[in-house]
Amino acid sequence: MSKTEHPRFQSVCESADLVGLLRERTESHPYQRAFSYLVDGDFDRQHLTYGQLDERARAIAAHLQSRGMAGERALLLYPSGLEFIAAFFGCLYAGVTAVPAYPPRRNRNLLRIKSIVADATPGVALTTHGVFDRVEPMIQDEADLRAIPWQCTDELALDQADAWEDPQVDPSTLAFLQYTSGSTGTPKGVMLSHGNLLHNTKVICEGFSMSRAGEGMTWLPLYHDMGLIGGIIQPIYFGRHNTLMTPTHFLQKPIRWLRTLSDTGAMISGGPNFAYELCLDRITDEEKRGLDLTQWEVAFNGAEPVRASTMRRFADAFAECGFRFESFYPCYGLAEATLMVAGKTKWQPPTVKSYDIEALKAGQAKPATAGAAEALDVVGSGESYLSHEVAIVDPESLVPCPDRRVGEIWVKGESVAQGYWKREALSQETFAARTTEGDGPYLRTGDLGFVDEGELFVTGRLKDLIIIRGANHYPQDIELTVEDSHPSLPKSSGAAVTIGEDGEEKLVVLQEMGRQRDLPFEEILDAVRHHVTAIHDVAPAAIVFLRPNTIPKTSSGKIQRHACRDQYLAGKLNVVAEWSLGDGLSV
Ligand code: ATP
Ligand code: MG
Repeated sequence: MSKTEHPRFQSVCESADLVGLLRERTESHPYQRAFSYLVDGDFDRQHLTYGQLDERARAIAAHLQSRGMAGERALLLYPSGLEFIAAFFGCLYAGVTAVPAYPPRRNRNLLRIKSIVADATPGVALTTHGVFDRVEPMIQDEADLRAIPWQCTDELALDQADAWEDPQVDPSTLAFLQYTSGSTGTPKGVMLSHGNLLHNTKVICEGFSMSRAGEGMTWLPLYHDMGLIGGIIQPIYFGRHNTLMTPTHFLQKPIRWLRTLSDTGAMISGGPNFAYELCLDRITDEEKRGLDLTQWEVAFNGAEPVRASTMRRFADAFAECGFRFESFYPCYGLAEATLMVAGKTKWQPPTVKSYDIEALKAGQAKPATAGAAEALDVVGSGESYLSHEVAIVDPESLVPCPDRRVGEIWVKGESVAQGYWKREALSQETFAARTTEGDGPYLRTGDLGFVDEGELFVTGRLKDLIIIRGANHYPQDIELTVEDSHPSLPKSSGAAVTIGEDGEEKLVVLQEMGRQRDLPFEEILDAVRHHVTAIHDVAPAAIVFLRPNTIPKTSSGKIQRHACRDQYLAGKLNVVAEWSLGDGLSV
């Protein structure tokens, strides 16, 4: 599962840390544009050269150094944009650990910030003037947030840059704390060092087989690993100009993403599977006209289950714009391994294999016989690169699994993070696992999967696994069946969970509804029950239809199944209609 070190990348960057990386780029290409930001999502652009970024970062760093912040942590609350990049590097330039988070809009986000602050205990909060004006009234009564000194970095004078002193970081210095999405519990701060980030950057270059700098584009949130590492660090490493857009501008009009790719000739861009679904759903034929996607070499798809049907439909729909199915780049990763663990081999079409559903329920990946109805398409997430290693291990016995046997995905290598901030016991359990053969230390990812012909296939999360009468079901497979069972149901907005009742686990299906009026609930309910039972051989005990946009999701847009289950049991969901075996349908 692992390729050998590739000489091509050894010359890309001499430095072993990110301070050195940006200094190198600034010295060799001070006037080259590093980033452009689409202010309004359409035409209005701001630009930043390496020289300008370096100067702003030095000014921010000098300020932090003057406050004696080296070795401390700084909370970063920024909208997507150029100021965030400057502040992030300002922290690194000062030897300060950055803690990026989403600027609060409502009280719900405030809770997440408060829990991050309590955990990370930052010595300063950095933000922009605009965000501070909005946040200040929200934190009037929040003693813990008021206790931190706040600094608007866009108000700092550039002439402070001259006072900057090199912080002398090394590969083991912590660069930032990545708080995980919270899909399965309270956010934990993953400790990423400069060495982790540079290594993973090289892994991505190797996986994407990059041979020229070219153009990139991202709308992914920059406070989260895929946006920050893929959208900022990786482009600097490879000297690739990257255009940024806010996630909101993309979500409002998905065509903005593809239009920017077309206008800039971007080679690399991507997102989770739902982003491609959104394009299919919302981009009109009229909007498609004139789009040129021929340059798009790497359309990465990761962070969530990758669906074969989405990729096929997207490739068909955008073939007329020059998009190629081979450009899809399914990949797998997690914050605990910096970002990317495995990815497809470039130019090969993504692997989609059909497996026998019954065998999968028993943890065995047996190829389905051609044309069998009882088959499930699983997309391969490729292989690992450089010194990364992936093993599949039985999560209970800790015995390594043979090929095609489902087990927990374990990862070894230089991208594996330093642990969770201030959580010794959990870090030990998660980051220092060993197999019964004594092989390790490994990161336990908590994800399940198998290896088939050298390729990794991710089947789902251990914590979300639904076990009913001894058979394993993956919630996302049931969720897919539910949303496909009736045309009125929106995509990626459902959760399959279980509740214990009368001594057995029962399946409960939660599904958001669209905004249409007068929905035929009886018809939808029949379709959902019929499809779930026929395909998965398990009958839902309850089906709950929710108001649009109310299902619990993380700040990165992932379904929080545990929160869904808790809110269902506490009667706190926004229900429009509900059915259960005992009580029938009530609207
Ligand atoms: P938390 O750890 O707080 O519960 P999270 O796991 O969603 O949140 P991330 O690090 O953002 O936090 O996401 C990594 C997870 O995303 C992986 O552990 C895996 O469950 C899922 N994932 C990533 N890539 C894929 C993929 N190709 N297929 C299926 N799932 C994937
Ligand atoms: Mg996780």
